[in-house]
Amino acid sequence: MALDAQTEDVIHTLKMAESRFAPAAFANSLGAEDMVLTDLIARHAPGIEIFTLDTGRLNPETYALLDEVRRKYGIGIRVLFPESEAVEEFVNRHGPNAFYESAGLRKTCCFIRKVAPLGRALEGKTSWITGLRQEQAPTRGSIAVQEWDDAHQLHKFNPLAGWTHDEVWAYIRENDVPYNGLHDQGYPSIGCAPCTRPIAEGEDIRAGRWWWEDPHSKECGLHPASASRKTENLTAP
Ligand code: SF4
Repeated sequence: MALDAQTEDVIHTLKMAESRFAPAAFANSLGAEDMVLTDLIARHAPGIEIFTLDTGRLNPETYALLDEVRRKYGIGIRVLFPESEAVEEFVNRHGPNAFYESAGLRKTCCFIRKVAPLGRALEGKTSWITGLRQEQAPTRGSIAVQEWDDAHQLHKFNPLAGWTHDEVWAYIRENDVPYNGLHDQGYPSIGCAPCTRPIAEGEDIRAGRWWWEDPHSKECGLHPASASRKTENLTAP
């Protein structure tokens, strides 16, 4: 499908979430896919709330992009932080870089800094929107444009589910969308600074995330595969 037609499909999905699955919120990690959705939401579905999770361990380039988005689009992005007491307790007990020691500690850190704040961001919402794509990881191969999210008891939209990496970047270039400077340094995926690194040519695009772990279990807990079910058609509740 040509990029224009794919873009029209995404706009249709966003407008439907905005009007028929309201209140809707978009979880923005400030990576390339999420910048495509930021651009489309700002221009076509401004009733969708945009939020981001500041884990306290982000790269300077990510904060710079957050500023640029506010300037370019004139939209407020809601920023959620982890509970300070939980972070203090974890760091004082296990150290500042405990995520390298075991998958368990890594998941606890992700829970405190990402999963719990996401829960607060989604309180009171009917639907949420993500920039997930099927080809990003083995854990994402079956995601659909519209799903039911059992974990959060919400409708979940992944409007870019079937987009390729090249289509995301074609949209960014053609529409002059601002993007994270880390992408120009070899980072395909944007996350926390200590857990994300550039990849070599030909490596899997998720190879730069938690590279010391098994690739089949590398998720931060924001999008557990078993917690979502496809819905066949784009329909209102
Ligand atoms: Fe912690 Fe790393 Fe997860 Fe960020 S990605 S929340 S630093 S374990």
